[in-house]
Amino acid sequence: MILPGATIGVLGGGQLGRMFVAAARTMGYKTVVLDSDKNSPAGLIADHHICAGYEDQTGLSQMAELCDAVTTEFENVPAASLRKLSENCFVSPSAEAVEIAQNRGREKNYALQAGLETTPFKTILSAEDISVAIDVTDFPAILKLSSLGYDGKGQAIVRSAEEVIGKFEEFGSVECVLEKMLDLKQEVSVILGRNADGDVSVFPVSENVHVNGILHTSTVPANVSEKITAQAQEQAIALANAMDYVGILAVEFFITGDDELVFNEMAPRPHNSGHYTLDATVTSQFEQQVRTLCGLPAGDAALTSPVVMVNLLGDLWPVNWSVAFAEKSLKLHLYGKEEARPGRKMGHYNVLAESTEKAKSIAEDIFKKISRI
Ligand code: ADP
Ligand code: MG
Repeated sequence: MILPGATIGVLGGGQLGRMFVAAARTMGYKTVVLDSDKNSPAGLIADHHICAGYEDQTGLSQMAELCDAVTTEFENVPAASLRKLSENCFVSPSAEAVEIAQNRGREKNYALQAGLETTPFKTILSAEDISVAIDVTDFPAILKLSSLGYDGKGQAIVRSAEEVIGKFEEFGSVECVLEKMLDLKQEVSVILGRNADGDVSVFPVSENVHVNGILHTSTVPANVSEKITAQAQEQAIALANAMDYVGILAVEFFITGDDELVFNEMAPRPHNSGHYTLDATVTSQFEQQVRTLCGLPAGDAALTSPVVMVNLLGDLWPVNWSVAFAEKSLKLHLYGKEEARPGRKMGHYNVLAESTEKAKSIAEDIFKKISRI
């Protein structure tokens, strides 16, 4: 076990890294962040900020020297960098797990192997693969970059072979996945923590609403049947066990019109849809990340209150905070980003109430006030 007083590090200095650092510091650990941005949200509050890129060998050596254990907040860190770090300190999640989650085709194949259902899909490596892919998916379909896409970026809805060819070229003729576009009834996600002993702790299922491909709200408990809740949690655990995963794993699912649960994607790190755990579970996903990284037993993931999380994007800036704070139940989390750009995640807030309906109504009220609509 790596105990308080030790130094733990995170690759990536975004908001997820910042909330990991905050949890680690609260628990008595010293923290190191590696990120090339000198004003990165996590770097600003860490004990030590190594201002270097993910492939910078000097930066990585320095990190391995300073840290007893290292995790990541960014799924696209090169696996080679994780491997290099693991020569000198404990690293979780593993390079192998991150490599699977980095690639849409690989993660879907992995999910299939673990017994989960996916949307019909096909990996496209070159233009020759397109017609076979269309046979599998039919139209409408979604073409997605296999790697580096996020918040709906790097994907396009396509309705004809010509459109697939056009978008594939527009994306730079690099590896993509073509998948069937489903008529979604709902979207949910499951986040779990698994430590090196195989000890798993699952957070409650969150119901997620996306706007323009970006998460807008998460509501917990999710408005889904007990069967779907149990299935989603069981499937996430099955996936983590199959990968012998260590760390925090987030799994996104679609729910179709016939109440079928379909695996969408996974993230080898805490997830935006788990930010409700900062205020509404006994242990937050970031505390759990510290625990799994340090080989501690998992903390209690039980829900303490119904909750709604709302994302705050740069589009809302500048925000009149005094109006927002007028609502007593506002739990505001801002990430310390200087520049507000449209679509940029600047922060979020949680609202806890005796029911999700009540929490939703207060959360919407706050959102209307700060959106000036
Ligand atoms: P990202 O990495 O950007 O989160 P996702 O694959 O999760 O990419 O897609 C973002 C959102 O787009 C999803 O949460 C969902 O709302 C919608 N979406 C993605 N794939 C499909 C699909 N096959 N059918 C219907 N909606 C989809
Ligand atoms: Mg997603």
